[in-house]
Amino acid sequence: MDYREIITYCHANNITLGQYALQSEVKRGDSTAEKIKTRFAEMLDVMKQSTSSAANKPLISVSKISGGNAYKYHQYQQNGDSLLGELAANAVTKALSTAETNAAMGKIVACPTAGSSGIVPAAILACGEYFNLKQDQLIDALMAASLIGKLIAESATISGAEGGCQAETGAAAAMAAAAVCQLRAGSPEVCFYAAAIAIKNSLGLVCDPVGGYVEIPCVKRNAAGVTNALIAADMALAGIISYIPFDETVTAMSNIGKMLPSALKETSGGGLAATKTAAALSGKIFN
Ligand code: SF4
Repeated sequence: MDYREIITYCHANNITLGQYALQSEVKRGDSTAEKIKTRFAEMLDVMKQSTSSAANKPLISVSKISGGNAYKYHQYQQNGDSLLGELAANAVTKALSTAETNAAMGKIVACPTAGSSGIVPAAILACGEYFNLKQDQLIDALMAASLIGKLIAESATISGAEGGCQAETGAAAAMAAAAVCQLRAGSPEVCFYAAAIAIKNSLGLVCDPVGGYVEIPCVKRNAAGVTNALIAADMALAGIISYIPFDETVTAMSNIGKMLPSALKETSGGGLAATKTAAALSGKIFN
């Protein structure tokens, strides 16, 4: 369904994007609303774990080329030293923690992918803590995020190998931006504006993991992705619109992904992965 029809449907039935996503899943006939909600609650539990596991004690990746930064940032944040406000700094800690948990082969929820798994949980859970929101609201927001991810996957891609990092951390930022807007009672239109703005802010981002490991620059891109999501949501909630509609931003992302050379699509043949330091780090891993 076209995203504008989704907005119209949500208004006509006085439901959120998350409730629309739930209804659509139930209509597919594979599961009941209760079972789907239980599954989302389980995912939220995994997210709660992953957003704190690397923040409370240093966690080093299996390759040993990354890790320990979620802990470092958490300490800094708790000391009140962050340049960011409480919510955004907490979101950065959570995004780093999940991304480092992924790099250390811990359990995460791929949303939409493992490489970009820090962004959606960080945005939803940091907002949940800051505004003291209920579990049901968080689940509804996660469902809204899943709807945005589904729309992007259907008409473009959520794979770094196909569309570059814009398709992974960019898509995750769009999902998170819409979820946050919904948590702040933004209308479905506002949620889509936020998602469109987040995509626009990520266009052209290449996939260039050092040594082929989802660590450098992936972990820090999750931190950047969640701040992108929060900025996009904040602008949309303030009444700022995206002049380019959501579906056209997705098409632009898809087209840019097709234009990117394969060296910049998860092959580690270009970008940061092709630097002198990356070569030295890769040598260390493989030795
Ligand atoms: S750089 Fe590539 S592997 Fe890393 S998060 Fe982005 S898309 Fe995923």
